[in-house]
Amino acid sequence: MANIASPSDAPFTTPAGDAAQPGTAAPSPAFTLTFWGVRGNIPSPGADTVRYGGNTACVEVQVGGQRLIFDGGTGLWMLGRHLMAQGQPVAAHLFFTHTHWDRIQGFPFFSPAFAPATQLDIYGAQALNGASIKQRLMEQMLRPNFFKPLQTMAAAMTFHNIAAGDAIALDDVLVEPWSLNRHTSALGYRVTWGDRVLVYATDTDPTQTSVDPNLLMLASGADVLIFDGTYADAAYSDPNGSGLAPWHLGIEVARASQVKHLVLFHHNPCHSDDQLDQLERQVQGSFAQVSLAREGMTLDLISGCC
Ligand SMILES: [Zn+2]
Repeated sequence: MANIASPSDAPFTTPAGDAAQPGTAAPSPAFTLTFWGVRGNIPSPGADTVRYGGNTACVEVQVGGQRLIFDGGTGLWMLGRHLMAQGQPVAAHLFFTHTHWDRIQGFPFFSPAFAPATQLDIYGAQALNGASIKQRLMEQMLRPNFFKPLQTMAAAMTFHNIAAGDAIALDDVLVEPWSLNRHTSALGYRVTWGDRVLVYATDTDPTQTSVDPNLLMLASGADVLIFDGTYADAAYSDPNGSGLAPWHLGIEVARASQVKHLVLFHHNPCHSDDQLDQLERQVQGSFAQVSLAREGMTLDLISGCC
């Protein structure tokens, strides 16, 4: 992919090394990911969801000294509390796949964004109606939706409108956005550091009758592929309404793309812990290394260990 600068609300910059500045909470040079929210659609707290968790989509990645965050569902609120408790300035790159509620609802509650010492680079695709990522995040915080407008966030924030085909270099970490879904304009992300690759691909295009070749390229050789796990085939009845693929497509993509570890994510909010246990046993018979994402679960792409 070419390194293409995209239109943005601020000039597109390569914010190299901001996590390593003196006095900031620089993550160690490693490649780990942690799930802070694993549900789709709507938060689902309750006695039946305590083991997998009820927060919506948010994945933190620490790689090569950078902190990347994928999506800002209600799990982002939990991550924000965790970061603030460390007592150090926060620097992070926040990538949105799209702006359905389960991807943005935690953003107004992300406490580091209200701290002046925080540095945030925020990335997302332009919406089909032309709205920038900044505009959409601002709009959800306007009265009467919310009591604090985005302008009250004291962090240094730079917004980047990105598109499939761009390549974002953060020091030696490469982040490549790919087109996933023509109905929602959702992006998938491929993160490469050295010879290790993480792919985050949720809200894929469910109208494909066969596996999308674009998806196979995106996932090619990934050490970890995070994919939709919302629907079993039997429950999958509305291919034009949800923007989600049934989980068997994740197995097909992982097999065809020689993925090492498939993680199903974006769980159905109606599914209990026991139902997800059952689904995990079912999919483990279909692919060598497959897990269901759980809140708090961490994977290490260097050691290959959980
Ligand atoms: Zn969505």
